[in-house]
Amino acid sequence: MTTIKTTCERCGDVELEPGDLALELDPTQESGVYLFTCPSCIVVQRRPANPRVVNVLLATGVTYEVVTPSSNDHPITEAEIATFARRLDEEEDLFRLLTP
Ligand SMILES: [Zn+2]
Repeated sequence: MTTIKTTCERCGDVELEPGDLALELDPTQESGVYLFTCPSCIVVQRRPANPRVVNVLLATGVTYEVVTPSSNDHPITEAEIATFARRLDEEEDLFRLLTP
């Protein structure tokens, strides 16, 4: 099982498994937000995830959902989502990014 190291605002370093995290992706920003519940203090943390962090999390099997931006003047197309996913696939050497 892959261990994902990140930090909790209260507890400092924590280790999570992919099933402990969830991703929200915004294809128009090519980034997203990841959420996890700290195993120590049980507080839900919500953090910005740049494309590289997003890719690390996806590579470890974290589940995700594509969210639609609140401003709806630019509907997301399937093609944009496909492009987004393809760019994520191009990133590689990433696991260290989650470790401060
Ligand atoms: Zn904590």
